[in-house]
Amino acid sequence: MSYTSRLTQAVIDLNALVSNYQYIDSLASNSNTIAVVKADAYGHDAIKVAHALRDKVSLFAVGFIDEALALRSGGIDTQILILEGPSKATDFAVADEHNFSLMLHSDYQIEWLKAFSPNAFDQKSVNLPTDNPSQMWLKIDTGMNRLGFQISCVERVISQLSQSQQSQLVLCSHFSTAEQLHSDKPLAQLAKLKALVAKYNCKFSMANSAGILNWSESHGDHNRLGLALYGISPIGITDISNPLVPVMTLTANIIAIHTIKTGETVGYGDVWQAKRETKIATIAIGYADGYPRNAKAGTPVFINGEIAPIVGRVSMDMITVDVTDLLQVNISDTAELWGKNISIDVVAKYSDTINYELLTRVSKRVPKVSL
Ligand code: PLP
Repeated sequence: MSYTSRLTQAVIDLNALVSNYQYIDSLASNSNTIAVVKADAYGHDAIKVAHALRDKVSLFAVGFIDEALALRSGGIDTQILILEGPSKATDFAVADEHNFSLMLHSDYQIEWLKAFSPNAFDQKSVNLPTDNPSQMWLKIDTGMNRLGFQISCVERVISQLSQSQQSQLVLCSHFSTAEQLHSDKPLAQLAKLKALVAKYNCKFSMANSAGILNWSESHGDHNRLGLALYGISPIGITDISNPLVPVMTLTANIIAIHTIKTGETVGYGDVWQAKRETKIATIAIGYADGYPRNAKAGTPVFINGEIAPIVGRVSMDMITVDVTDLLQVNISDTAELWGKNISIDVVAKYSDTINYELLTRVSKRVPKVSL
């Protein structure tokens, strides 16, 4: 490993990753579980994650072609699905060369496909390997109103496909509220997709993590597993019976300790003032590392088996923590910002954001060390 002087790291537990995958996969035994590794595997290092899963996973999913090419450069030869479909007409040639599956969501992409290969609908098609021939992924808008063919257009789109393409069709849609256990919307969306699946007698993919965990009716031929793969529950509930194990533990060391008097302030803007004599530990992580700048005072940090609160503003490279009440604290001690002892959901709540955003914002300057 190359030299680093950083005292900040994201520890990636690849055993936890594999066991999360196996657990979720076992919940939907009739489905293929796609591992979603977009956004650098939600900040976990897509190449390491894909290598750890490659003998279990038959299909990875990423957002766009560049992410898929990065996996190929990293030695991953597994089939890759591009969730956002082609962004440029030239993506078809790249997908064909590298064996990527493109999810088509709009008419202009069908036109690009025809221009790329007038016979594509009849032959091996774009982007599918010979052992999984000619699947045609179409994204259908069942209520997210973000990407996908409107239901009223599906007949027209499918009529443009050849018989062989129609027989290998995968209709795909995305939940907007699957994490809401009492919402009516997920089953309404699912009913719309299933009506099409019955009409065209084709395969389907609806479930994301929350769909797999909460809505077993939505288990399809392919489920798309993202957040829960990384050990985070999409419903944000800390449930000790939940066998998911957080894969990332974000840590940083204490680089200074000093004691301030009552009435003194800490950090930029003097926004936090000591109500008592206070021992402050300065920790080597800041917003340039992806720790949220708007983490409020009180956000918990785990040090030597105890919890201590952040005080003062998060700086670019540092945070400050009130360690007055800790039994022991020393320079170089390691603090956990989130992971197995501090739920990322709690940090997200203190920062007015969501776990997905925190994970994907861990920056490149944080070394990722895999266990
Ligand atoms: N499918 C699509 C189309 C997505 O955009 C995503 C993530 O945003 C996923 C699946 C995975 O979702 P989750 O991380 O909630 O499992």
